[in-house]
Amino acid sequence: MNPPICSSCNRPITRALDLPYGWWEWSGKRYELRTASQGVDVAPWVHADCMNQLRDFHPADHTILA
Ligand SMILES: [Zn+2]
Repeated sequence: MNPPICSSCNRPITRALDLPYGWWEWSGKRYELRTASQGVDVAPWVHADCMNQLRDFHPADHTILA
């Protein structure tokens, strides 16, 4: 079975990062806080390939528990 497709980059979502607060990225001098969220509310899930938010995605919707 194929994973869902990312609406931002159209690649399969093989890794979804749980990033409610974003991430810290080295800018050359110091770390700066980055976020994939495009709104005031945080986007908890981020596609690892493009680092864009997955607003309507939740891994549990695509998980079959054994
Ligand atoms: Zn993507």
